[in-house]
Amino acid sequence: MIEKDKTKNYQELLYKKESYYEKADDEEKKRIFDFAERYKAFINECKTERECTAYAISRAKEQGFKEYHFGDKLKQGDKRYFVNRDKGVTLFKIGSKNIEECGLRIVVAHIDAPRIDLKQVPVYESDGFCYFKTHYYGGIKKYQWTTIPLSLHGVVIKKNGEKVVINLGEKEDDPVFYISDLLPHLGKTQMSGKASEIISGEQLNVIVGGMPEKSENDKIKLNVLKILNDTYGITEHDFISAELCVVPAMKARDVGFDRAFIGGYGHDDRSCSYPCMESIFEVDNENTSICILVDKEEIGSEGNTGMKSKVFEDLIDEISLALGCNPRQVRGRSMCLSCDVDGCYDPNFPSVYEKKNTALISCGACMTKFTGSGGKSGSSDASAETVGKIRQILSKENVVWQTSELGKVDQGGGGTVAKYISQLNIDTVDMGIPVISMHSPYELISKADLYSMYRASLAFLK
Ligand code: MN
Ligand code: MN
Repeated sequence: MIEKDKTKNYQELLYKKESYYEKADDEEKKRIFDFAERYKAFINECKTERECTAYAISRAKEQGFKEYHFGDKLKQGDKRYFVNRDKGVTLFKIGSKNIEECGLRIVVAHIDAPRIDLKQVPVYESDGFCYFKTHYYGGIKKYQWTTIPLSLHGVVIKKNGEKVVINLGEKEDDPVFYISDLLPHLGKTQMSGKASEIISGEQLNVIVGGMPEKSENDKIKLNVLKILNDTYGITEHDFISAELCVVPAMKARDVGFDRAFIGGYGHDDRSCSYPCMESIFEVDNENTSICILVDKEEIGSEGNTGMKSKVFEDLIDEISLALGCNPRQVRGRSMCLSCDVDGCYDPNFPSVYEKKNTALISCGACMTKFTGSGGKSGSSDASAETVGKIRQILSKENVVWQTSELGKVDQGGGGTVAKYISQLNIDTVDMGIPVISMHSPYELISKADLYSMYRASLAFLK
């Protein structure tokens, strides 16, 4: 029998989401805005997983982290980073607690983002233009990627094995690239079709030149190849062993008179990977903490750089063994915050959301018990016990956060890397921040939510 508490504030019986901006005092608002400035610099510099990896390595080195290789000895206080093929990096700090008893605290976020990749034979010429043929990467609304400035990022491996790094279109005086759309005057047939067919995959051809060279055929193409050869020493053959990505050339900017929001490319999932990375630098450890920045989430976590790769299990096992612990026991007692963005309630499109269970803008980082689609299919569905533990951790550190689900039941769905980590026998729950216009070339987030993600990740690793 529960005794009646006459002093009880009955408002506390209700679950209510609250605006972080409303709750924050002036000092907290300053921290929110300062963090946003550092984040904007990060996403302006890092537009591919390779660039994010390089950035994380250089930040880690500044913080005294040293590179780790399988088989290295480890001891309490060690700060290490493990690089996976230049496309992902795992940072970790060895804490004072016994990991066989307490497990590991793991935060993970992905550093790839939807974009447009070049095909392996990309260059062709037609009617006064030189183009690159492309194959898009991740789930995009193709029509959104036309008529915006685009930049080119990536690597080319030459015949002799030499690696050439390309980053063109980001500096003020760099040229940019461009995908055309039809003028409305001639768009009658196009506009009456399905939105998914307004621009087809094979129409995502990128304009890269228009100046002819003096020769018989393919004059413009030859001139473009000449410029590429003069600048980078590459030939048309070298595209076969290249990874070149076309991404929006736009810089992240404050949005709104009050600058509450940030517009930018790749908030999914760099608005989680940046806070995760910064939180592992910040935390002083009792727990052994791990921050995984992973590739290939947007195409199903495949391959040896995606979350399905055995390398992550190997790494956890190697760390456990190096500390004299049983890796199976360590994994079984570990906890993971799988940090990925969620769809934000958009008042402009209310019909697809169920508002009570959708993430609201500026109400903080959002915890998603399950993802998936059509009856939770494809979700790892965190246990009530796991969610309960995270709730306690967040409330202890006064983190403003909210619960969320992607949209209405049977409206669609999506997944994250959470299920691949939980398969390793690790308690895992999704936590991210709400994003407006997800997977578009210029997404929108709230600075308050970004900082809340950092606070959540920090609280968890503590
Ligand atoms: Mn994501
Ligand atoms: Mn995504």
